[in-house]
Amino acid sequence: MARRGNLYVISGPSGAGKGTLVARVLGRVPDCWVSVSATTRAPRPGEEDGVHYFFLSEERFEELVAQGGFLEWAQVHSAKYGTPLASVREHMDAGEQVILEIDVQGAFAVKEKIPECHLVFIDVPSIEELLARLRGRGTESEDVIAARMEVARVELSQKERYDYTVVNDDLERATEELAAYIERQAQSRS
Ligand code: 5GP
Repeated sequence: MARRGNLYVISGPSGAGKGTLVARVLGRVPDCWVSVSATTRAPRPGEEDGVHYFFLSEERFEELVAQGGFLEWAQVHSAKYGTPLASVREHMDAGEQVILEIDVQGAFAVKEKIPECHLVFIDVPSIEELLARLRGRGTESEDVIAARMEVARVELSQKERYDYTVVNDDLERATEELAAYIERQAQSRS
C-alpha cells in the first residue's frame, strides 16, 4: 500500500526525552524527516548550528518572522523558537513523515493551520521523575530547572488535547510505540 506524507507534532515537558525518542524513531521509520527549528537561545555544549537548531540572533529571527518564514513560532522559557516553513512544506510535498519537536503553544498553532497533523505528547512517568532527569542532565542551574518545572506543569495540563500520548517509561518500549504509531498513520489512506 502506498505511504502518504504526514505531519507529526511531538511535544512534552523538557526532560521527557523527546529528542532521544525522535532520534531513535528516525532509525526505524525509513521516510521520516525531522525539522530543524530556529532559536535565539545559545547553543548548549555539543550542539551544532544547522543540526540541533539554527542558532539565530534576535534581529535575524525577527526578520524571518516579518517575512512569514515560520509555520509557527513561540517564546519558550527566555528564548524564541520557530519552525521554518519552506523545508516542512518541501518534505511534506515529497510524501515523507515529517516530525516537528516543538512546545505546546506551537503544537496548537500548527494544528490550527494544518488540522490533519497528528499531535503526539511524550509524557514522563511522574513529575518527580522529570525533576530527577532535569537535574541529572547537569546542563542547567537550579533557577532554570525551577522555571522549566513550572512550564512542564502547564504543558502536562494540556495533554488531553493531544491525539496520542506515549509515556517514556522505558526508552526501547516507548521508541517501538512511537514508531508503530507513525507506521500506522503512514500506511492508512486519507
Ligand atoms: P530546548 O531549549 O530545551 O532545546 O527546547 C525548549 C523547548 O522549546 C522545548 O519544549 C521544545 O520542544 C521547544 N521548541 C523547540 N523548537 C521549537 C519550535 O520551532 N517552535 C516551538 N513553538 N517550540 C519549539
